[in-house]
Amino acid sequence: MRHIETVDEMTRLAAQLRGQGKSIGLVPTMGYLHEGHLALAEAARGENDVVIMSIFVNPAQFGPGEDFETYPRDLERDAALAEEAGVDILFHPEPADMYPTDGGIRILPGPQADVLCGASRPGHFDGVLKVITKLFHIASPDRAYFGEKDAQQLALIETFVRDFNFPVEIRRIPTVREEDGLAKSSRNVCLDAEERKAAPAIRQALAEGEQIFRKNGERERALQEVRRRLGEIPGAALDYAELLEYPSLQPATKESREVIIAAAVRFGSVRLIDNVLIPVKEAAACSK
Ligand code: AMP
Repeated sequence: MRHIETVDEMTRLAAQLRGQGKSIGLVPTMGYLHEGHLALAEAARGENDVVIMSIFVNPAQFGPGEDFETYPRDLERDAALAEEAGVDILFHPEPADMYPTDGGIRILPGPQADVLCGASRPGHFDGVLKVITKLFHIASPDRAYFGEKDAQQLALIETFVRDFNFPVEIRRIPTVREEDGLAKSSRNVCLDAEERKAAPAIRQALAEGEQIFRKNGERERALQEVRRRLGEIPGAALDYAELLEYPSLQPATKESREVIIAAAVRFGSVRLIDNVLIPVKEAAACSK
C-alpha cells in the first residue's frame, strides 16, 4: 500500500491511473478505522482496479466547540487495517495542504441540510460538500463509497452529485454494528463503561419505531415511541429523533418511497447518531 501525503502527488497519480484505463474507487474517511470503514473499502476492492482511501479529519465540517481537536487519530493502526482490507493508496493530507487559502466561496446545501444533524450543526454539511468536492477532483474516482450510518450525509452527496453532474457513482453501504447492535463509530471509544452499556438502546429504540411503522404506517406513534425510549436511556440526552422521507429529508407523505427514522443522542460530550432506512413499498401504507 502506498502512502500519499500531498494533494499534488495524489492528483497526479490519479490522473496517471485513469490514463492507464484503471477504474478508481474512493473511500473518504476521517480515520480511526473500524469495521464500518473497512466494509466500504472491501466493497470498493471488489468493484475497482485501484482503491484509494482518504484519511482526513476535515476541519471545515467541525463547528466551534465541537470535537475537532479531540477526534481520535491513529494513522499507524489505520494504515495496517486499510492495507489488510485491500486499500492500494492511503491519502492522508495535512489541513494546510487541503486548505492553503480560503477565497470565501461556500457550497450551500438546500433544505436537506437544515434538519437532523444539520439543525444543530450549522455549516457542517457545507464543510462536508467542500471536502467531498475537493476529494473527487483530487482522486477522480469512478465510484465513491459512503455508509448509511451517516444517512443525511449520503442523501446530500447523492443529490449534489446528481444535480451537479459529478462523473462519479455513489455507492451506499449498510451500517455495520457491534454485536449488541450499537452502530460502529470512531466516537464509541470515547464512551465510559456505563455509557457504552447503555448505548445499544439507541438501536433498539429505532428498531421499535421501525416495527410500529411497518405494521400499520403510524408515523406519529412510531416517532413518539422512539423518542420515549431514547428519553429513558440512562446518562443520555436526546438531541433529535425524526421520521422523514428519504432522501429529500422532508416530511414523509403517502407517496414517499423510502423513509428514515434518525436519531442523535449525547452521552456527555460524545454525540452518537443512528438511523433506520425503511423502503415503504415493503411497509404498510403510509397513511397517518
Ligand atoms: P467517518 O470516518 O466517520 O467520516 O466515516 C467515513 C465513512 O464511513 C462514511 O461514509 C461513513 O458513513 C462510513 N461509516 C462510518 N461508520 C460506519 C458504520 N458503522 N457502518 C458503515 N459505514 C460507516
